[in-house]
Amino acid sequence: MKKLLSLILAMTLLIGASAMAEALPAETLFTPGTYEAEAQGFGGMVQVTVTVAENEITDVTIVGEMETPALGGVAVGTMGEAIVKAQTPHVDGVSGATVTSAAIIAAATEALEAAGADIALLDEYRRDESEDVVKEEKTIETEIVIIGAGGAGMTAAIMAQQAGKDFVILEKMPYVGGNTTKATGGMNAAETLYQKEQGVEDSVELFAQDTMVGGHNINDPDLVNTLAAKSAEAIDWLDSIGADLPKISFSGGASTNRIHAPADGSAVGNYLVDKFSEKLKELGVEVMLNTKATELMVENGQVVGVKAEGPDAYYTIKSKAVILASGGFGANLEMIADYRPDLQGTVTTNAPGATGDGIVMAQAVGAALVDIEQIQLHPTVEQSTSMLITESVRGDGAILVNQNGERFTNELLTRDAVSAAELAQEGQYAYIIFDQHLRDNLKAIEKYVTNGLTVQGDTIEALAEQLNIPPETLAKTLADWNEAVATQNDAQFGRTTGMNENLTVAPYYAIQVAPGIHHTMGGVKINTSAEVINTEGNAIPGLFAAGEVTGGVHGGNRLGGNAVADIVIFGRIAAESAVEFVSK
Ligand code: ADP
Repeated sequence: MKKLLSLILAMTLLIGASAMAEALPAETLFTPGTYEAEAQGFGGMVQVTVTVAENEITDVTIVGEMETPALGGVAVGTMGEAIVKAQTPHVDGVSGATVTSAAIIAAATEALEAAGADIALLDEYRRDESEDVVKEEKTIETEIVIIGAGGAGMTAAIMAQQAGKDFVILEKMPYVGGNTTKATGGMNAAETLYQKEQGVEDSVELFAQDTMVGGHNINDPDLVNTLAAKSAEAIDWLDSIGADLPKISFSGGASTNRIHAPADGSAVGNYLVDKFSEKLKELGVEVMLNTKATELMVENGQVVGVKAEGPDAYYTIKSKAVILASGGFGANLEMIADYRPDLQGTVTTNAPGATGDGIVMAQAVGAALVDIEQIQLHPTVEQSTSMLITESVRGDGAILVNQNGERFTNELLTRDAVSAAELAQEGQYAYIIFDQHLRDNLKAIEKYVTNGLTVQGDTIEALAEQLNIPPETLAKTLADWNEAVATQNDAQFGRTTGMNENLTVAPYYAIQVAPGIHHTMGGVKINTSAEVINTEGNAIPGLFAAGEVTGGVHGGNRLGGNAVADIVIFGRIAAESAVEFVSK
C-alpha cells in the first residue's frame, strides 16, 4: 500500500504539485479535518492549527503571542506558509529564532500525526525543494542606498524620507531590527528636556568625559564630543516621531542619571524597532527584506552604488551615496577569531545578521578600520541557547561559583573583569546561583525556567549533587555569602552592591553560564560627519556609515546606554550628510 502511494506521489510530483490533490483520489495521506497541538516556545506556548484535506495540507495557523515580535514573531508569521508550501512540517526555521522555530515544527508534527500523516513520507516528497529559482538581473537607480535595517539604518531611512530623498533600504534577514532588538537599558543623552524637567544636572562635557573614561580613553574624542553634543536633539527627534524616552535613571559609568528609557520601563531595543517600523510604514517606506548587499560599486574613487542579492533577483543599485548601517561582527565567529584568536570558540549573544559584511565591503574600497580587536564580552550567557542571563540576577543578589562550589570574584565588577575571572576557572564556566525569593522578584527568570535553563534543588546540598559539586563546599559558600550579606561585608571579594537580600529560600536554582561575545566596539573609521575615512586619512566620496559597523565612539569598552545613543545620533548624522551630498 505504501509502495503504491509512493509511486502515485512520485508521479504527481512529476506532473506538478498543483495537480496533486486530484491525482490521488483513491489514496489518502490524512484524515481530513482541523488538528491542533502546542509546544513550548521562547516566551510561552506556541499553538499550531493544521487543516488537511485527504492529500493536502491546506492551511497552517500559528499563534505565539508571547514570542519576541522581531524574532520568534517572524517564525510565527512565516512558517505556516512554508509548511503549506513544502507539505511537510520539516521546514527551515528562522535563524535567530531557533526555540520558536523548533516549537512550531514540533507542534505541527504532532498535529499532522494526529491527522494520520506519515511524516517520513511527507519529508520524502517535500515540494519546495524541487523548485529551482532562476534569479533575474535587475537594475535600480536611486539617490541613496542604506545597507541594514537595524537602529542606525532605520533612523537614517526616516531622516532620508523626511528630507524627500529617493532611496532604498536593504536588509539581509527576513526581519528588521538586528542587534538593536537586544538592547535592554536605554539611551544616554545629556542636557535633555527630560533631565531639565526632572531636575537632573548634567552636561555635554560630563557625558563626553564619562564616555572617554569608560572607553579607557582610546575612543576618538571628536566622535565622543559629537555624540554628547547631539544627544539632546536626538531625544527631541525621537519625541517628534513618537518614540519618546522620558524615563531617566542611572547606568554604570555615568556620573549622573543619564540613561533615557521608554515610560513603561520596557526594553529600549524592541521599543525603538517597533516605533521606527511604524514610522517607516506611515511614511510609505518599504524595507527590501531578505536582500543582502554584497559589494560597493566604485567609479573614479567615488562610491556609486551597491550590488545586492534578493530572493529572486541580483540587483545592481546605482546611487549617488551609500550609508553603511550593517552592524557589527559579533555573530561572525571566524572574523572574531581572526582579530581575537583568544576568543575562538566563544558563543555570541548577537543577532545572526551581525556578520561584519559592511566592514568587509568598506575595506574592499579602501576604508580604514579602528579598534577592530576591541570586543566586549558578557559574563553570564547560557551556552546551549546563547541566552543572556540579565545582569539584574546578580544585581538582585545572585552569586557565581565554579565547579568546586566556590566563589571566585566580585560578581558585579565590569563585564570584562567578571568574564576574565570565569575564563580563569577550570572548564571556563561558572554557575549563577539564586533562590526562590529572587525568582519571585525578578520577572526575567521565568523565561529561563520555562526554557529549561535552570537546575533546581530543594536544599542547597540537593542542588550541588545535581551539578556534581561537593555539597558541603556549596553549602559553606552559601553560608559565608549569607553572613557577608548580614554584615554587609564581603571580606573575600569586596562586593558592595547587590547585597540587599540573602539566599535562604528554597528551592535553590543554578544556571551554567560562560562569557559570550556581546558588542564589537571597533569597525570602519568615520569622521564627525559620518563620512567613511580611507587608509590615507581622506573621506571616501559617497560613502557614509553609522552604528555598530563603525569604530571609535566606544574605544575599549562601551558603556550601557551608548549603543542606542550611537545608532540614533550617528544614524541621523549619516543621513544628513548623505542628503547634503546627493543634493549638491
Ligand atoms: P546598528 O545597531 O548599528 O543599527 P544592528 O545590528 O541593529 O546595527 O543592525 C544592522 C542590520 O544590518 C541587521 O539587521 C543586519 O541583519 C543587517 N545587515 C548586515 N549585513 C547586511 C548586508 N550585507 N546586507 C543587508 N543587510 C545587512
